[in-house]
Amino acid sequence: MPRTPVRRTKIVATLGPAWDHPDRMGALIDAGVNVVRINASHGTAEIRARWIAQLREVTRDRREAVAVLLDLQGPRIRVGTLAQPLRLEAGRTVVFAPEDEARDGEIPTTYESLAADVQLGARILLDDGLLALEVTGLKDRRVDAVVHYGGELRSHKGMNLPGIEVSAPALTEKDLEDVAQAVAVGVDYVALSFVRRPEDMEQLRALVPRSIKLIAKIEKDTALRNLCGILDASDAIMVARGDLGVELPFEEVPLIQKQIIREAGLHGKPVITATQMLESMVHAPRPTRAEASDVANAILDGTDAVMLSAETAVGEFPLEAVRAMDRIAREMELQRPGRGVTIDAALGRRASEGVALPQHRMAQSGPVRTEDAIAVAVCAAAEMLSAPLIVCFTSSGFTARKVATCRPTVPVFASTPEPDTFRQLSLVWGVTPALTEHSTDYDRMLSVARQQILERGLAQPGERLVVTAGVPFDMPGTTNLLKIEAV
Ligand code: PGA
Ligand code: MN
Repeated sequence: MPRTPVRRTKIVATLGPAWDHPDRMGALIDAGVNVVRINASHGTAEIRARWIAQLREVTRDRREAVAVLLDLQGPRIRVGTLAQPLRLEAGRTVVFAPEDEARDGEIPTTYESLAADVQLGARILLDDGLLALEVTGLKDRRVDAVVHYGGELRSHKGMNLPGIEVSAPALTEKDLEDVAQAVAVGVDYVALSFVRRPEDMEQLRALVPRSIKLIAKIEKDTALRNLCGILDASDAIMVARGDLGVELPFEEVPLIQKQIIREAGLHGKPVITATQMLESMVHAPRPTRAEASDVANAILDGTDAVMLSAETAVGEFPLEAVRAMDRIAREMELQRPGRGVTIDAALGRRASEGVALPQHRMAQSGPVRTEDAIAVAVCAAAEMLSAPLIVCFTSSGFTARKVATCRPTVPVFASTPEPDTFRQLSLVWGVTPALTEHSTDYDRMLSVARQQILERGLAQPGERLVVTAGVPFDMPGTTNLLKIEAV
């Protein structure tokens, strides 16, 4: 079977109890994981700190970049602690009450202001939407609800209130503690759940150093209304289909996924498509055909990364799940290695399919920026010259992300002296990050890159490389150089 040398689509995988050993983590990364996700909703701060230390240890001497992503729980609403599981029968009326006020037989909730924020007729969904109720009465701080779809309810299950403006703060006390830990231990990305407005991300931004990049999880209808602002306030976003598909009618999720991915492309921000991508692999060694199609379609939509949650966190076949994603992505890329930049498209004469090129947005909103013109020209040059690789010298990662946004038909070899940038670029579609020594001498940087490229077999002697960078070096956001070099 022919294989593309490097996979463009990135894989995010979630850790779970079974990964608590350096050898196991090494196996997960060997299977093809680019970004390791640690979910702050589960486990203790102590376990998470140990995982992060182990990951850093395991990845220290690897040539391939691996980033660590801490996923904050955010204002998720949950059922409180139940003495024993409750059987909710359809037709029965139950009472919700704040956790510390709930009496026997009532359902405790972590959401203090439930009664103040819901109206009669509002829907309450429990346990990933499996149990559905409707609000029939409001009494002070208590809420009566009739069960439409019943089942067994266990402690701490998630609670979704579709269409309700939840008044809870963007960052809970637990989130603040988890952020402080992330800063102390040092992670590459912090994701925030249930983002509603750009201000939510700005609040988080004020708590972390510049070296940590922020991901907004799009899983509420409010976030969809504020998507542009949230994109501007974030470094990347996630299509968090798990909660999105409960907060919104599930039939709306496929088109919304495409719109979010498209909008992220227009903003030049990486996007992760998440949740239930290979769900059946929690218990099976092979994906269903529908799941294989789902991963492939997210790639066709233009996602940077695809994510595994339960499949790797608690699944029986975690390595198989990573390998399945790897196989699907490589097969897709063999057929469609990037969208490609035709000269017509580069000159803006013809609308391109899929994620719009940056210049189409620029055309509507003022003059084209230098970095966008360079990025488009770099991709077009690589195509015209049949160059096997685009080489990018970058310190902040800005130039590499710009070029990747144009979805070039060849990989982007991103040479950087910054360890943070090296790891963070592991999330970005089409980018192969390479760590190098710090230098401001172009010829020296090129000769080191050439050597690394030959060692990895990414190009052959005699072939041409399209090189891009921002000059002077070390100044982020100054992409302005395009050169053609021989390998
Ligand atoms: P979660 O987020 O797994 O933390 O809930 C992802 C999603 O909702 O899809
Ligand atoms: Mn979620």
